This record gives sequence, structure tokens and C-alpha cells, in this order.
Amino acid sequence: MLRIGFVGWRGMVGSVLMDRMRQEQDFKGFEPIFFTTSNVGGKGPDVGHEIPPLKDAFDIELLSSMDIILTCQGGDYTRKVYPELRKHGWNGYWIDSASVLRMKDDSIIVLDPVNRTVIDSGLSSGIKSYVGGNCTVSLMLMALSGLFAHGHIEWISSMTYQAASGAGAKHMKELITQMAVLGDASKSLLNDPASTAIAIDEVVTKELRSNTFPAQNFTVPLAGSLIAWIDSPMESGQTREEWKGSVETNKILQTKRPIPVDGVCVRVGAMRCHSQGLTIKLDKDVPLDEVSEIIEKGNQWTKLIPNDKESTLQSLTPAAVNGTLTIPVGRLRKMLMGPEYVAAFTVGDQLLWGAAEPIRRILNILIEHLS
Ligand code: NAP
Repeated sequence: MLRIGFVGWRGMVGSVLMDRMRQEQDFKGFEPIFFTTSNVGGKGPDVGHEIPPLKDAFDIELLSSMDIILTCQGGDYTRKVYPELRKHGWNGYWIDSASVLRMKDDSIIVLDPVNRTVIDSGLSSGIKSYVGGNCTVSLMLMALSGLFAHGHIEWISSMTYQAASGAGAKHMKELITQMAVLGDASKSLLNDPASTAIAIDEVVTKELRSNTFPAQNFTVPLAGSLIAWIDSPMESGQTREEWKGSVETNKILQTKRPIPVDGVCVRVGAMRCHSQGLTIKLDKDVPLDEVSEIIEKGNQWTKLIPNDKESTLQSLTPAAVNGTLTIPVGRLRKMLMGPEYVAAFTVGDQLLWGAAEPIRRILNILIEHLS
């Protein structure tokens, strides 16, 4: 029976993964072994049957006895343990949600509804590392998989509206704490029917600018504001998040001719859904109804939202998409720049298709491959 090691299963991505695996009844046909960096001997997650106590996630000997290791532990763990394991002669499959190995030549970025052929050819050529992609990139590719498959995309500009969850669990809590502080500060004015919006704004602005405003994680307010910078600077003037758009898209699809993807990545006060406003330059003037049909048929999770107010307000928001696998694509129209330019807006849960789901699915693909 295959021995599969899970590291990082109780973190934010890991716990969403565990939920999905339980929902899909994935915990069968292999022996799961759960590891920890902080609680050796403790109790693992509920997988529907008895499992042994937690093992040490730095025990190279034990890790080397796994056929597959799946980690959602983070980049520092991968940086430390992965090379040690390979040096130790371990030849098993490594599945990772961290970005450390993504751009290595001997790894594949996984998003099987979009790049199953790339994954299959990696498996036949003996690739052993399979890494989840950047959440924003994966969600954009899921939304536009049909157009990519038809070869209609010349370039994309993606303006993002990214959720707090992308920065981590503490940041999600901080966003709500910030909202609560703003709510408390303006409470008496909100309860006074005679108060004006301008008076409330003064109170809110004072709070946002105060030294005591809770911003230890974001360093600045996100509630009542936004942050037009995600991750570290690159020499190009892009942020690392913006840089990933092009390099990861082209690696995921293994394009022969690179498709430029660029834009401005912005953090907004959403919890776990990233949204993106897209400008798509097509290879030619494809009629809009054809573009719509291609997008809708791209994969079973893509849902075309009619370009009207009611449908947009009901279905094309983080509030509607949160916690689901649906990838709505709406606001679809030709742009003033010319008939090859299409506007679109898409939303996706960054902890599901942006993180846990591609990892869950590659695990099943590997299990099938090894059986
Ligand atoms: P996380 O929530 O910080 O969890 C990572 C580990 O921290 C856990 O497995 C756990 O390890 C330890 N931990 C310490 N205190 C904890 C607590 N109170 N609750 C839960 N776990 C705690 O990390 P994450 O956000 O899931 O990210 C994991 C990796 O996925 C990172 O490399 C990240 O870049 C990548 N990723 C994240 C996202 C995202 O949206 N957050 C999206 C795509 C990829 P022990 O059980 O060993 O103590």
C-alpha cells in the first residue's frame, strides 16, 4: 500500500485540503502518515479511521520511507527538508503548496483542468516534484482556460483585487479587527439618525491614521483602504506577485511563444476570494458570443455571468463565491480599443482553486499513476 506523508495539514491551506479530502472521501486506498513541526506524538486530523500519533516532520529517515510527501507547511520547511531528502537518496513524489520549487526545471506547476497534458508528460518523463501555482495565476487560468486552449490569447492585463487570506491567517483576522475598530469608533454616529456621512468619515479617517490602529501584520490599514503592493519588489518595477503572472502562466501551460500577462496587484478587504479585472487581447476579432461559449466550456467549474447588473451583483462577488469551487466570469464585452480587445471580470476562492484543490487533485493523479 502506498505510504503518503502529510506535512502542514493543520495550517490554513492544509485544513482546507483536509476538508476537501474528507468531502470527496479521498482517505482510502493508501496509508496516511501525519507529520508535525510542533507537536510530535499529538493527535492527527479526523480521516474516518484510526491513524498513528503525529510524527516528526524533520525525521529524514521516516520521511524517506514515504512514496509521496504532500506539504502545505511553507517555504522555509521546503527549503530545509526537500534538499536533505533528495541528498539522502529519496526518490519519491513531492507535492507542495509553497512557491520555492515552482520555477525549478525539474518541477511541474499543477492545475490539471488546465494543464493535464503537461502533468501527464511530466509523469512519463520521471518528474518527481509537483507544485501548486500562485493563487491569482491559477484562478485567472481556470477562468480563461477555454480561450487559452483555443490559442486565442495574445496577451492579458490583469488588475487584481486580492483577499486578505493570500497574506495568511493572521492577516485575515487583522482585517476583521480593523473593521471592528472602525465600527466601534463610529457606532454612536451610526446610531444617530441626524449624523452625516462626512462626520462618520472624519471619525474613520482619524482612526485609520492613528498610531494605535491595529496593523501589526499588514503594517497599514486594509479595512476602509487598500494596498497596491503585494510581496517584494523586482528590478522590472513589478512586485513579485505581478512578476509571477507571466512566468507562472507560461510555465503552467508550457507555451512555445510566451504570452505576456501583466498588471497591478492590489490587496482589498475581501476575506478569501481574489477578483481580477482582465483586458484580453485576442489573436483576432472573435465574435463575443463565440468568446462567451469558449469561456463557458473551458472547464466544468467556469460559469459565465451575463453582463447585466442583477447577475453581476448576485453572482460575481467574493460574498457569493466564498467557499465554493465555482469560477464565475462576467462583465464580458468588447472594448473601445478595438474588436480584438475583450474585458472580463472573474472571482475565485483563493484557498480552494488558488491553493488546496490543485494539490488535492495532483495527489489523486499520482495515486492513480502509481497504482
Ligand atoms: P499556515 O496557516 O501558517 O500553516 C503553516 C503551519 O504553521 C501549520 O501547518 C502548522 O504546522 C503551523 N502552525 C503554527 N501555529 C498554528 C496555528 N495556530 N494554527 C494552524 N497552524 C499553525 O500557512 P498557510 O497559509 O496554510 O500556507 C502554507 C503554504 O501554502 C505557504 O507556503 C504558503 O505560501 C502557501 N500558499 C498559501 C496560500 C494562502 O492563501 N494562504 C495560497 C497558496 C499557497 P505544525 O502543525 O507543524 O505546527
